[in-house]
Amino acid sequence: MELKVLGCSGGEAEGERLTGFLVNGRIAIDAGSLTLALRLSEQIAIRHIFLTHSHLDHICTLPFFTKNIFGHVEVPVEIHALPQTLDALRRHLFNDELWPDFSVIPSPDKPIIRYSEITPGEIYEVEGLRITPVMVNHLVPCVGYRVEDDHSAFIFTSDTAETDGIYTLANATKNLKFFITEASFPNEQTRLAEASKHLTPAKLGGELRKLKQGVAVGIYHLTPGERPIMLPQLEALQHPDLRLLNQDERYEW
Ligand SMILES: [Zn+2]
Ligand SMILES: [Zn+2]
Repeated sequence: MELKVLGCSGGEAEGERLTGFLVNGRIAIDAGSLTLALRLSEQIAIRHIFLTHSHLDHICTLPFFTKNIFGHVEVPVEIHALPQTLDALRRHLFNDELWPDFSVIPSPDKPIIRYSEITPGEIYEVEGLRITPVMVNHLVPCVGYRVEDDHSAFIFTSDTAETDGIYTLANATKNLKFFITEASFPNEQTRLAEASKHLTPAKLGGELRKLKQGVAVGIYHLTPGERPIMLPQLEALQHPDLRLLNQDERYEW
């Protein structure tokens, strides 16, 4: 399995792309940076997009992506997400006001994108991978994902405050290679983290004690301006295998 980090920042600026991953060149997880990180030919190769939640930093390149692939795809790209997330897309984004409704363009029976509701706990088999959504704890309904093939697995919690289910799933996962979770604000901004349902490094330390597998941990979603304050706070956790994700890096298992 190949995992490419398209974007992993909690804010957008030059050199700081928003959240998105590409698995085996065919499956995207979140869409914060599809059109900024990938060449047109790579965008056209995407067959499925699994969204974690409706926040803009996880979906904002979907409109430009749909325009880019228009005329280049025979089969609709499947947008997999919770019903609440799909509802937000229908009402607020692909609503013919902010952007054309590409779920019926060019025709309702052969559109550019097709919405596909997911149910937490179900396993979805796509492109030779098994993908399991799990509810996490965020301001809006939000899932993390376990992605696995016959040899390896990784988990992406997405944006979340303290949560248990995805750690239970991680501990039960054979061949778990990588656990990606967030740290958004420095310890000094604990109240902001709690109000927005994110983690600080200190809260992350508590969360990682639930992870019983000795697996590498990747951190994403740092607020760019707070990075200098957060890095020593993350180091202070003294976790044996914790690293910051970097955009454009690839993992292969
Ligand atoms: Zn969010
Ligand atoms: Zn986010």
